[in-house]
Amino acid sequence: MIKEAQIRESYEVEQVRREFPILRREVKGKPLIYFDNAATTQKPQQVIDALTGYYTGYNANIHRGIHTLAEEATAAFENTRDAVQRFIGADSREEIIFTRGTTEGINLVAYTWGRQNIKAGDEIIISAMEHHSNIVPWQVLCEEKGAKLKVIPVNEKGELLFEEYIKLLGPRTKMVSVVHASNALGTINPVRQIIDAAHKAGAVTLIDGAQSTAHLDINVRDLDCDFFALSAHKLYGPTGTGVLYGKKELLEAMPVFQGGGEMIKEVSFEKTTYNQLPYKYEAGTPNIADTIAFKAALDFIYRIGKEQIRRHEEDLLGYATAQLRAIRGLKIIGEAAEKTSVISFVVDNAHPQDLGILLDNQGIAVRTGHHCTQPLMDFFCIPGTTRASFAAYNTRAEIDELAAGLQKAIKLLS
Ligand code: PMP
Repeated sequence: MIKEAQIRESYEVEQVRREFPILRREVKGKPLIYFDNAATTQKPQQVIDALTGYYTGYNANIHRGIHTLAEEATAAFENTRDAVQRFIGADSREEIIFTRGTTEGINLVAYTWGRQNIKAGDEIIISAMEHHSNIVPWQVLCEEKGAKLKVIPVNEKGELLFEEYIKLLGPRTKMVSVVHASNALGTINPVRQIIDAAHKAGAVTLIDGAQSTAHLDINVRDLDCDFFALSAHKLYGPTGTGVLYGKKELLEAMPVFQGGGEMIKEVSFEKTTYNQLPYKYEAGTPNIADTIAFKAALDFIYRIGKEQIRRHEEDLLGYATAQLRAIRGLKIIGEAAEKTSVISFVVDNAHPQDLGILLDNQGIAVRTGHHCTQPLMDFFCIPGTTRASFAAYNTRAEIDELAAGLQKAIKLLS
């Protein structure tokens, strides 16, 4: 396996940092410390080069052209499909549908599979820690069809209550759609077991992989999920491109999503026949440049080593957790046993937004607010949190700066 072979003995974080030009910039006169990786990661030079390489070298529309540029662009675009297939362990390239990102992937399933399969009285299960992208499409569908949305509760640590989930499953359950790793808390959910139980109840499953793909090894075959949605921009790739994985038999049986170019075989005013997978779901000119550059992001991850990145992030998470726990009045929200490198916290008498502004004044980028998980914030009875999330290029020294910056901010706000 390439992955194992490329794991290096020691992790050279300074070497990794040099690959990200943005990390050389300053914010408010201080070196940038970027801790908003759960919102989007920064991009290595390799990805930026792939983008400019396409626009300067072989910009053309794909699939239908017979000239050289069109052939080169098509080959590069389709190479990314093969790379994603390997990256997530899908059986075939036909199961890899390019989308704008996780949100579009989930909407695609809700609009196509959902409209075909959900009827009045059916039930869709999600969890209390879903991103709005994995709530609203199902709500819209439930409203339209007279179906019911059921929610797996969480405990105070931010872990799903598995026994409660099992109780929610029943003959009316048609879809279980849950997040693999929570963007707001970092919780990693036991999706393998969730999927198994859903299948035993006869339900179809969708995994929101927006936050897990950068941190965990994903193998959709082992998970046995029916759908898996991800965004390239969360894993060192460009914005505006992502993937919906779906099992071939499901994708084949589903009705089309958007109509237009590329997704057709033949069009007449009487009847249109549709293209084969995966093109059936890729209407119109796709985001060619960003999708091509997405492969460069996957190449970057392979080269650094996914296992190496994961271990580095685990070290940062442990270090940051200890540092932040030592700050008086600070409470970490989300202390699940299994977490990705996300720390959400609240501080007594300090609004998250004020903390965010004071940290930005020190060059430290964190995210504040509800993180598109308002129902989860309601559960914790808070309006939002301050969130620091770590990636391959972050360091312990930066976490020291965060802890010192927080102490300074807290003093100013008290
Ligand atoms: N789900 C989760 C868990 C996320 O963190 C995000 C992005 N914050 C999304 C879905 C939506 O991803 P995108 O905006 O890339 O479509």
